[in-house]
Amino acid sequence: MNETVGTALITGASSGIGAAYADRLARRGHDLILVARNRERLEAVAERITRETGRSVEVLTADLARAEDLLRVEQVLRSNEDISVLVNNAGFGAVAPLVDSDVDAMESMITLNVTALTRLTYAFAPGAVSRGGGTVINIGSIVAIVPELLNGVYGASKAFVLALSQSLRHELGEKGLRVQVVLPGAIATDFWQIAGNPVENLPQEWVMTVDDLVDAALAGLDDGEFVTIPALPDVELWDAYQGARQALSGNLSASRPAERYRRTTPAR
Ligand code: NAP
Repeated sequence: MNETVGTALITGASSGIGAAYADRLARRGHDLILVARNRERLEAVAERITRETGRSVEVLTADLARAEDLLRVEQVLRSNEDISVLVNNAGFGAVAPLVDSDVDAMESMITLNVTALTRLTYAFAPGAVSRGGGTVINIGSIVAIVPELLNGVYGASKAFVLALSQSLRHELGEKGLRVQVVLPGAIATDFWQIAGNPVENLPQEWVMTVDDLVDAALAGLDDGEFVTIPALPDVELWDAYQGARQALSGNLSASRPAERYRRTTPAR
């Protein structure tokens, strides 16, 4: 077997986007630790990748929405110094409108999409920086910037992923942590069935395959991109959006309200 380029820990690797990352990162020379709940599906992914690439693939069964399971994965990230890449991919969404959704289900979504992703990032990033570097790939979604498209809590959870990634890159980018946030559009996976609207119901011109998505995202990573939106044809649109954000940033805090809000208080 060739020398490894470090181990990649991928959450949600039993299917869909995570399983495709597992395949591609193994082909790039990474050993793997694959995390998800379903052992049988994880082992099937691991067995195929080991057979096809010869890489070492470990399976770690964990429900990342359960605190004790999450802690086990955090421990692995803290103690295994071979881990050079963390792919925070496990997540789920919903298509039901915000107010029609069960608030307990929304909380579960936040627990996985936000809390687990945050804790795993904390478990990995400082150690990676102290070892001289590492890579965090966070799987966001286009709903991070267009939350009106699907369920609002799902959109908000992915906006969190984008904002956390921005801060992480700001704080640790120059200390050797490579951070990428991937914003997929509709991808042909079980996600849609679980979210309440099978992917077959979508206009097929919107839907990308997992292989195309992950290959494009890794091309973006190789190009040093921070945000990768695989379906976006004109990257200048994103640059303009970022430019507007930066133009705002120097103007958002002041000792007095802006002129348009200054009202004369009526005399009593
Ligand atoms: P998927 O096929 O349903 O994959 C989700 C993965 O997460 C599975 O491996 C699942 O495995 C794992 N998972 C779910 N709950 C978990 C839990 N509590 N603990 C541990 N693992 C858990 O869907 P996907 O499309 O590949 O989704 C991957 C990511 O892409 C998600 O973050 C999703 O929000 C994002 N995304 C998807 C799309 C899309 O259109 N498909 C678009 C934008 C963003 P187990 O069931 O074995 O646990």
